[in-house]
Amino acid sequence: MSDALVLFSGGQDSTTCLAAALERFERVETIGFDYRQRHRIELDQRATILTKIAAIKPGWKARLGEDHCLDLGVLGEISATAMTRDVAITSGADGLPNTFVPGRNLVFLTFAAAIAYRRGLRHIVGGMCETDFSGYPDCRDATIKAMQVALNLGMEKNFVLDTPLMSLDKANTWRLSEQLGGTALVELIVEATHTCYLGERGQHHEWGYGCGECPACRLRAEGWRKYRSSSPH
Ligand code: ZN
Repeated sequence: MSDALVLFSGGQDSTTCLAAALERFERVETIGFDYRQRHRIELDQRATILTKIAAIKPGWKARLGEDHCLDLGVLGEISATAMTRDVAITSGADGLPNTFVPGRNLVFLTFAAAIAYRRGLRHIVGGMCETDFSGYPDCRDATIKAMQVALNLGMEKNFVLDTPLMSLDKANTWRLSEQLGGTALVELIVEATHTCYLGERGQHHEWGYGCGECPACRLRAEGWRKYRSSSPH
């Protein structure tokens, strides 16, 4: 039986990954992390998305299994970044934006593997992407491949780290969601997923809720425009 654990944050990318996993695997579980991110909106949206995504296709409901939510507050305690502190989003001298939380994806993958170990799940699915990313070194394909080797050596397992969005830009991520779940999934992603770094949900745009100005909103909006202008809607 094929099975997977999806790193599911409640954002656009991880929701698309969840849909991809529900298409491909017979049993799918999800994991989310509370690392004291500066807003909880993304985490709060998770339950809504899990309920609604199960209704998009008849087979998906039966495949969707347990949701795990881990408290990784210690990551927020040791990180002084714009994701975990109320400071302005800027770029550092090294060119990396201060939204980068050092070690975050490495920690997430390690804890996901520990849960997958206990639950007997082989595939670990994450929305890391090196195409449209903000320069985060832990989103690179090479980083993920190195983690796969390290986890399999360190846990004596054959985990497969799947990153279906690795080579896609944001327009293609929107396109993939349409292929996977039609307009119902695109609408769910627009209305329920949260990407905005500032946690803004007051302003509604055609691409979803957000401040419209932070790097995450701009990337999402730009991808949406590219997707809509090239699709026959
Ligand atoms: Zn924003």
